[in-house]
Amino acid sequence: MTDKEQFMKEAVNAALKGMNNNEGGPFGCVVVKDGKIVGRGNNKVTSTNDPTAHAEVTAIRDACKNLDSFQLDGCEIYTSCEPCPMCLGAIYWARPDKVYYGSNQVDAANIGFDDEFIYKEIPLPYSERSIPFEQLAREVALEPFQEWTKKMDKTEY
Ligand SMILES: [Zn+2]
Repeated sequence: MTDKEQFMKEAVNAALKGMNNNEGGPFGCVVVKDGKIVGRGNNKVTSTNDPTAHAEVTAIRDACKNLDSFQLDGCEIYTSCEPCPMCLGAIYWARPDKVYYGSNQVDAANIGFDDEFIYKEIPLPYSERSIPFEQLAREVALEPFQEWTKKMDKTEY
C-alpha cells in the first residue's frame, strides 16, 4: 500500500469508527501535511445536531486548530467520499494543495446520500430554487462592508 493509499485508509477508518459509534453517516477524512496527519474528522451530523458536521468540515476544523491557522497551505485532504457542494466550498476556503477522494457521488447516492440536487440548485435563479432566496435591506447590510474597508487592524484572508 502506498503512503497515499494508507492515508485514504485512515480516512476510511475514521468513517467506520464514527459510524460504529453512531456519531453520524459513513464518511471520514484526514488532512496531511509533510507526510503526517494533522487533522481527522468524521461525519457527526446526527450526534451533534449539526447539519454542517460533515467529515471534511470536521477534519478541516481539527487541522486548522492543530496548525493554528485558518488556511491549509501545503496540506492534502484525503476524504473517503467525493465532497458534497458544502464541503467543496469549505475546501476552497481552506485552500489545501490537493484533494484525494475514495468513493464518488454516485456511490453515495446509491446508499441514500444524494447531493446531486444541490448541484442542480446552484445554477438556478433564486426564484426557481427549492429554498427561496430574497434580497432584503441591502443598504443596511452594507454597513459592515463599509466599516471593514476602513478597519486598520483587520486580518485579511
Ligand atoms: Zn459535505
